[in-house]
Amino acid sequence: MEDRKCNDTSCNGDCSNCASAKHEPQSMLAPLNEYSTVKKVIGVVSGKGGVGKSLVTGGLAVSMSRAGYKTAVLDADITGPSIPKMFGVNARAMQDATGILPATSPDGIKLMSVNLLLEDIEAPVVWRGPVIAGAVKQFWTDVAWGEIDYMFVDCPPGTGDVPLTVFQSLPLDGIVIVTSPQDLVSLIVKKAYNMAKMMNIPVLGIVENMSYIKCPDCGKEFHIFGSGKTETVADELGVPLLARIPIDTDMATLIDNGMFEKHQNDYFKEAATYIDAKLNK
Ligand code: ADP
Repeated sequence: MEDRKCNDTSCNGDCSNCASAKHEPQSMLAPLNEYSTVKKVIGVVSGKGGVGKSLVTGGLAVSMSRAGYKTAVLDADITGPSIPKMFGVNARAMQDATGILPATSPDGIKLMSVNLLLEDIEAPVVWRGPVIAGAVKQFWTDVAWGEIDYMFVDCPPGTGDVPLTVFQSLPLDGIVIVTSPQDLVSLIVKKAYNMAKMMNIPVLGIVENMSYIKCPDCGKEFHIFGSGKTETVADELGVPLLARIPIDTDMATLIDNGMFEKHQNDYFKEAATYIDAKLNK
């Protein structure tokens, strides 16, 4: 009800019985920080936690940054924030007259995460949905991002209340769905797809993480969780399979050591190039 406006002083918020039909829908989008411009915003979503959503968010951001774009990551996964750790950023965020200042990764990607604001990053964030959603809105409104070409949003997992509010609060230009082959791929991907469609947000494509493991000796790929399922769903939905990322222990070690930007593989490059072309045509 608070998202509607009405000139009728007797309004009780119940539009179904309102004869005057003065109610007009109002945008739920949070206003962007007034000292910032963000050209494109891409949400990265998954049906559940632990499938590599943060890895894909970070990987796409690094590829965009390497392509020369001013890039940012908004970590909206408030209860499971892993972006600062993978980029080796742990200083507390500062603020000035323009707003909260985002952290900057060693290679120049701007980052904001609840972990940069908490005194004790090991303390669990035991906030209810509306508070979490409020924090995400604040990341958009109160953080002085500056000039950004591409912002990637590491969305909360699932298709429930919290991710839904994030979808409604940020002006997403598109979403990328991350899945892994051992998920109930079809169901989870379709739920995420339908949520985006309901909100008129374009689905840019699907990334399959933990697709296979490569033998370090012979180079052969082993599809230990099976293969082809994600491709079938992507075809059914008419969206591209943007990338298939292997289980890569070297990359996991870099992430654990906060040096993700040092990875030299090209797993995310093609997907980033596709997204760039798609959003700028
Ligand atoms: P989510 O954001 O979906 O919860 P994360 O991206 O945080 O998942 O990944 C969960 C864990 O799995 C992290 O420790 C990450 O380093 C590891 N991981 C994810 N994808 C891969 C991969 N392709 N190869 C190796 N480790 C991975």
